[in-house]
Amino acid sequence: MIEHDATMHGAVEDSHPPSSERVDKPLAPGLYLVATPIGNLEDITLRALRVLRSVDRIACEDTRQTAKLLGHFGIRTPTVSYHAHNESSRASELIEALKAGGRIAVVSDAGMPGIADPGATIASEAIAAGVPVFPIPGANAALSALIASGLTAERFAFHGFLPSREGQRRSVLESLRAHATDEATTAIFYETPHRIVSALADIVAIFGPGQRIALARELTKLHEEFLRGTAAELLATLSARPSVRGEMVLLIDGPPAAAASGAMPRTQTSSLADEVAGLIKTENLSEKDALKRVAKARGIGKSEAYRELQRSQSRKC
Ligand code: SAM
Repeated sequence: MIEHDATMHGAVEDSHPPSSERVDKPLAPGLYLVATPIGNLEDITLRALRVLRSVDRIACEDTRQTAKLLGHFGIRTPTVSYHAHNESSRASELIEALKAGGRIAVVSDAGMPGIADPGATIASEAIAAGVPVFPIPGANAALSALIASGLTAERFAFHGFLPSREGQRRSVLESLRAHATDEATTAIFYETPHRIVSALADIVAIFGPGQRIALARELTKLHEEFLRGTAAELLATLSARPSVRGEMVLLIDGPPAAAASGAMPRTQTSSLADEVAGLIKTENLSEKDALKRVAKARGIGKSEAYRELQRSQSRKC
C-alpha cells in the first residue's frame, strides 16, 4: 500500500503548509488537484495561487477559460487541455511526465476538479503509478449550496447532474424516494436552468407538493439567490418567471420518505392530476390556473394537459 499523508508532508495541525510546499522550497513533484472559483475570483486560496505559479504545467478543462483566471492573477505557467474527450489519452501522457518527477496541476472551469468535472481519472492513474496526489481545496458549488440551504448538512448525498431525459430523471427521483433511510440525508443535484422547472414538477409529483427543497442559484456571483420552501412553492415561483437563468444546485430535504404525509402514490395516474391537485391545495389556485402552470412546467400545451387531466379523472371514477 502506498501512503502519503499530512505527516509525511509536514504537520498541518499548526497551520503550516506541508513541508513539501514551504515557500522557501520548490514545490514537490506530484499531481495537484486545484480548486478554482465558482464565480467570485476572490474565492481562490493563496496556496492555490502559489501552486498554479509553481507547477511545470496546468492541465485545464478549457485552456481559454483558465487563461482568464491566470491572466487575472498574472500567472504565466504553460497550460495544456485535459477534458472529457481526451481524458484518458492525455492522462497517460501526463502520468509519464509525473513519473519523471514532474509537477502538474489539474483545474476544471470552476470549482473542484473531479466533482462533475474531469480530474478523477488522472488522480486514480497517478495513485496507481505511485505518484503523490495533493488536493488543493477551495470552492465547490454543492457544498456551498448545502451549508446555506437550511437543510441538514450532517448527512448528505451528492448525485451530480439529474439526468436530462424525463423518464430517467423520474427513475432517479423515484429511486431516491424508495431508498430513503430513517436518518435525514439531504440529496444534492446539479441542474440546468432550462430543465429546472420540469425537474421541480417531477419532485412535486413524486415526493408531494409539501416536500422541502432548496435551490441555490448563481452562488458567489452578483445575482446569488437562495430559494427555500416546498416543492410546490418553488415550482410556482420559477414558473411565474419569464425565464430562469444561471447555474444552480438543487437540494432535496431528507428523508424523502418523511414527505409521505404529502407524497403522491407512485402510480402513473398520480402525476399530472396530482400536481394540479397539489397546486390547488397549496397555492389556492383555480383548477384552470393550476393546469396552466403544470402545462408550462411540463412544456406541453394547455389542451394536452386538459385531456390528460380528464383521462386521469375518468380513470379514478
Ligand atoms: N466542479 C464544479 C464544483 O466543484 O462545483 C462543478 C462543475 S459542474 C460541470 C457545473 C455545475 O455545477 C453547474 O451546472 C451547476 O449545477 C453547478 N454550479 C457551478 N457553479 C455554480 C454556481 N456559481 N452557482 C450554482 N451552481 C453552480
